[in-house]
Amino acid sequence: MTIQNYIGGVFTAPNSGKYLDNINPATGQVYSQIPDSDQTDVEQAVLAAKKAFKSWRETPVQKRSEILLKIATLIKENAEDLALCETIDNGKPLWLCKSVDIPRAAANFEFYATGIRHWASKAHLSDDKALNYTLHQPMGVAACISPWNLPLYLLTWKIAPALAVGNTVVAKPSEITPMTAYKLCEIAHKAGLPDGVLNVVHGLGPKVGEPLITHKDVPIISFTGGTSTGSRIATLVAPAFKKVSLELGGKNPNIIFADADLKRAVDTAVKASFSNQGQICLCGSRILIESSIYETFKTAFIENSKALKVGDPLDENSNLGAMVSEAHMNKVLSCIETAKQEGGKILLGGERVHLKGNNKDGFFIAPTIIEGLSNTCKTNQNEIFGPVVTLQPFDTEQEAVELANQSTYGLSASIFTENASRAHRVSAQIHAGIVWVNTWLYRDLRTPFGGYKQSGLGREGGFKAFAFFTETKNVCIKYS
Ligand code: NDP
Repeated sequence: MTIQNYIGGVFTAPNSGKYLDNINPATGQVYSQIPDSDQTDVEQAVLAAKKAFKSWRETPVQKRSEILLKIATLIKENAEDLALCETIDNGKPLWLCKSVDIPRAAANFEFYATGIRHWASKAHLSDDKALNYTLHQPMGVAACISPWNLPLYLLTWKIAPALAVGNTVVAKPSEITPMTAYKLCEIAHKAGLPDGVLNVVHGLGPKVGEPLITHKDVPIISFTGGTSTGSRIATLVAPAFKKVSLELGGKNPNIIFADADLKRAVDTAVKASFSNQGQICLCGSRILIESSIYETFKTAFIENSKALKVGDPLDENSNLGAMVSEAHMNKVLSCIETAKQEGGKILLGGERVHLKGNNKDGFFIAPTIIEGLSNTCKTNQNEIFGPVVTLQPFDTEQEAVELANQSTYGLSASIFTENASRAHRVSAQIHAGIVWVNTWLYRDLRTPFGGYKQSGLGREGGFKAFAFFTETKNVCIKYS
C-alpha cells in the first residue's frame, strides 16, 4: 500500500516522487510506502491551509463543531480498522489500541467540538469608566507535529482544538507511524471538513518538520516529541517569536511509601513501567521505594512483571508488543548495557526477545528491572523510552522528594500512600506538571497538561488549549 500526502483536500504524491519504507516492527517487514516529502510539499500544504483559513474562521462555531463531532463519530465507527493500522505501524498490542488510543482520539474531537460551543471570553468594567473585553482570534495556519508512540491520540489532541477555534492545520506525523494520520484524512474528508482546513505532509523531521515550523506563514506550532528536537525547534523559531507549545520527554518517579496499599502500588507500577513497552512519555521509569518495604515490593513487582507476556501484538493475550523500530530497540538495548556498566544489577529481562513464526524478525524486548544504581547515573537521568525501570530505596519522605526532583525532566510523578496529608504535602513539592496519587495515567481533558523543566512548555489543557491556539487581544472602550 502507498500512503499519500493530503493537501487541499486531495491525496497527493510527493513532488520528489520518492517514498520511504514503512516497517511493521512486529514482523520486521516493509508493509507500506510513505511520501519522502520535502520543502516544496510543505509550501503547497501551507498555501492550501492559508487559502482555506478565511472561510473556515468565518464558519459558524456550531457548524465547525458539527463537523468535528462527525469526525469523532467516524473514528468510533472505524475503530477496528484504525486500531489494526496503529498496531501494524507501531507494534503495540491491538487490545491497547482498541481500549486506549482510538477511543481517546475520538474523545479529543468530542471534547473540543463540544467545548468550543461553551467557550466564552471575559469582560471587565474599569471603575464604570471603560469596558474591557478579551477577544480570542484564530491565528491562521497551525503546525502540528507528533511522535510515534501514541500516533493518532496525540495528533488529534492538537488538531481538534486548533480546528475548533478556526485555525487551519498542516500536520506532520512521525514517519515511523503514518497510517492512522492517513486514515484520519479520509475520515475528515468524509465528515465534510472543507478542503485545505486539514493538510498532512508525511516525511522526515529535518525535510518536512523544519520547513514547516520555520515557514513565514505558520505563526503557531504545537509539538510533541523528544527534548532535543524540542530544543532545536525552540531555537529555530525564537527569532520569529512564534507561539510554541512543546510537550517533551520525561524520566518520571514513581514513589512507593511504606503505608501504601501494596497490591495497588505493585499492580499500578507494572502498568506504569511496561504499558506500550515503556514508550509513553508518562511512564514511571524510576521507582523509589521506602526502605522498610523495599524487599517486599521488589519481590511482588518482579513476580508480576515476570508474568507479562511479550508476544505478537495481534494476540489479545500479549501484554507487551514490539518496540517501534529496530533503531529504537537497539537504542534501548544499549541503554541496558550502559546500566550494567554503571553497576546496575539486572533483576529481570535485560535482553531482546526472539519470537517465532511471523514475528521471528520482530523487535521485542523483555520487561527489564534494574537495581543498585545511583540516582545521578545516566540510566536514572536519561530518558530510555523502553520497558526498562530502576528500583531505588529511600529512608525519609524528604529523601524521596529530593530523589524525585533530582532530574532535568519534570513531566509527571506518581505517589502511593494511604496518608492523605502526605499525599498533598508531597504532591506540592514534586517538580512535575502532573502528580498522580494511588493511580497512573488517569486523565481528564479539562485539567492542565504539560511538563516542568526540560519536559516542555507552553500548553495547558481544557479550554486553555483554545487560548493557546488563538491570539488574545484586549479591547478597551472608554465611555464618553
Ligand atoms: P522526535 O522528537 O524524534 O520526533 C517527534 C516529531 O518531530 C516527529 O514527527 C519527527 O519526525 C519530528 N521532527 C524531528 N526533527 C524535527 C525537526 N528538526 N523539526 C521539526 N520536526 C522534527 O520524538 P519521537 O518521535 O522519537 O517520540 C518520542 C519522544 O516523544 C520521547 O522523548 C517522548 O518522551 C516524547 N513524548 C512526549 C509526550 C508529552 O506529552 N510530553 C508524549 C509522547 C511522547 P521524524 O519522525 O521524521 O523524525
